[in-house]
Amino acid sequence: MLCPACGAPTTRVIDSRPAEGGQTIRRRRECESCAHRFTTYERLEPQLMVRKRDGRLEPFSTAKLSAGISAALADRPVSGSSIERLAEKVEASLRSQGAQVSSEDIGVEVLERLRALDEVAYLRFASVYKEFQDAADFEKEAALVLRDEGSA
Ligand SMILES: [Zn+2]
Repeated sequence: MLCPACGAPTTRVIDSRPAEGGQTIRRRRECESCAHRFTTYERLEPQLMVRKRDGRLEPFSTAKLSAGISAALADRPVSGSSIERLAEKVEASLRSQGAQVSSEDIGVEVLERLRALDEVAYLRFASVYKEFQDAADFEKEAALVLRDEGSA
C-alpha cells in the first residue's frame, strides 16, 4: 500500500480492528518515510456463483474455466501464459458483473476473447459452449469467421 501523501512503498500498521459488524478489518497505517497516517479497509472477496442451465448454483471455479479454455486451445500455437491471462481477464470481467453469473455469461466472455486470440479455438469452444441448436448454427458461425478472415 503506497503512502497517499508521499508515495513511499513502506507503511506499517499501527492499529487493526474489526468494523461493519466484523465484515471488514479497519487498519490505521503510518508511512515510514513521512509519518503520514491513513486508513485502509480489508473485505472478504464475495464468492462468485454460477447459475447453471438447470438453475442450480455452484461456486465459480477458476480451474474449470482454465481447463475449458485449454481444451479449446489444445494443439494451437498459444502459450500457457496467454491462456492464464485470458482466464484472469474473463474472471475479472465476470466479478465486475455482480455476485452471480450464468453459464451463458461465462461462455460469451470466453468466446469474445478467444475470437481475438485464435479462431480455431473460438469455433471449438463455440461448438461446446453455445449448445448450437443444430449443425446449421455451427456452419453459420464458421461462415462468419471465414468471412472475417477474408476481409482481414
Ligand atoms: Zn509518506
